[in-house]
Amino acid sequence: MDQILKEIQALALPLIGQGKVADYIPALAKVSAKQFGIAIYSNKGELFTIGDATTNFSIQSISKVFSLTLSMKHFGAGMWDKVGREPSGQPFNSLVQLEYEAGVPRNPFINAGALVVSDMNQSRFVSPHYAMKTFIRRLSGNQEVQSDHKVANSEYEFRSRNAAMAYLMKSFDNFDNDVEEVLRSYFSNCAIRMSCVDLAKAFSFLANKGYCRHSDEQVLTEQETKQVNALMATSGLYDEAGNFAYRVGLPGKSGVGGGIVAIVPDQFSVCVWSPELNKAGNSLAGMAALETLSQKIGWSVF
Ligand code: GLU
Repeated sequence: MDQILKEIQALALPLIGQGKVADYIPALAKVSAKQFGIAIYSNKGELFTIGDATTNFSIQSISKVFSLTLSMKHFGAGMWDKVGREPSGQPFNSLVQLEYEAGVPRNPFINAGALVVSDMNQSRFVSPHYAMKTFIRRLSGNQEVQSDHKVANSEYEFRSRNAAMAYLMKSFDNFDNDVEEVLRSYFSNCAIRMSCVDLAKAFSFLANKGYCRHSDEQVLTEQETKQVNALMATSGLYDEAGNFAYRVGLPGKSGVGGGIVAIVPDQFSVCVWSPELNKAGNSLAGMAALETLSQKIGWSVF
């Protein structure tokens, strides 16, 4: 595995310079582009890493999988009245579809869907961000996981689009709590900082039939685990989920911080990170690294 990781790093590093670090959140634009890391965690507990695998970065939309998992644990099938399970075919922050579809977002991974999920968690927990942080610390086995207040505040300051979605959903009666409070916890969740190693470990329950070995807990049932992986495979990579399925062939979730997590069911969880994004908002070097990795090892759910 170490040799394969070296080859992948050699292929991916020259791509740095061809993408663009996310700058629509000003505090994220300051991240140095020249970083690249991979962590692979096996269901047996083996860890393989290369590059900047222990450097913390902003997990951004990757947090949406943790929020979804929390709400599935607490609301079960009932949650699906408020959010759909279809790919959107639209940019992650689009408002257009919401108006046509009466305020019910297509899936939990576009921003509107993640906001509805955050709204549900707001109803369930006294302090939803604290609940999320505690959950992630348990899953990653890292008690130091924190949110970056500067990034969260920067997102809140430039919240117009996300706020517009939330208020639109409220006008359709699909949003229960105070919009500004939910936005605060949503942004604090997006601004959580973790490394590739933390994320590979925290996502390992999705490769292991819902079981997390560090915390020794059944996080989701086997069936729910399959469902989350199905949603990641169909909607986890913004408007590029089809291309990701074609090129990588695994359930995955990306974030504009440049991280991508992928699941090899029953075997491994993987996290790649490089901050520069392609036009669809996914890590450019990260996509290439995962594509080569899955081809070299023969990983694919298809
Ligand atoms: N916090 C970001 C937003 O709401 C999430 C973006 C992302 O990673 O997709 O715009």
